[in-house]
Amino acid sequence: MGQHVHVRINQGLEVSEEGDLIELSRCRCGATWTRTYRADEADPER
Ligand SMILES: [Zn+2]
Repeated sequence: MGQHVHVRINQGLEVSEEGDLIELSRCRCGATWTRTYRADEADPER
């Protein structure tokens, strides 16, 4: 396969044992990503 631009489809959210928020994303090609929002940084607007 040549160049492929991943399309990150949101798969929902999970909460880790540490209380961090984990955002799950996935592309149709099978690639997956996780993005972790640390509990102590969870509110950047403040
Ligand atoms: Zn892809």
